[in-house]
Amino acid sequence: MAVQKITRTEGEWRRLLSPEQYRILREHGTEPAFTGAYWNHKEPGIYRCAGCGLPLFSSEAKYDSGTGWPSFYAPIDPAHVETSDDYSLGMHRIEVHCAACGGHLGHVFPDGPPPTGLRYCINSAALVFEPTDQAP
Ligand code: FE
Repeated sequence: MAVQKITRTEGEWRRLLSPEQYRILREHGTEPAFTGAYWNHKEPGIYRCAGCGLPLFSSEAKYDSGTGWPSFYAPIDPAHVETSDDYSLGMHRIEVHCAACGGHLGHVFPDGPPPTGLRYCINSAALVFEPTDQAP
């Protein structure tokens, strides 16, 4: 099901987000590897968008990619993330953003594990973790 789009002014985002969240989500920033809250986080639960709260990833699809960023082989719902071409840094990468608020999350690469073979490499600062009794 398509998600409801959320539009806010840059001033509203600056008020709502921490400086680090704003830099990642609204300015396509990247946190240094092995520094974020969730790269080594293994509890069962839901990772929501730090911008708008949309559920983005389940702990069920999280795996240790060795990269120092939280990595998932699939989103919790394919309609909850969108992608676009990113040609920055002199290479072609696929950028991943929240389908509702457009916040930049990270990138997706074709070197992930089964069943998808994809690696969603996501900034911790773009996520807020919500614990659950079991993986959703
Ligand atoms: Fe969002």
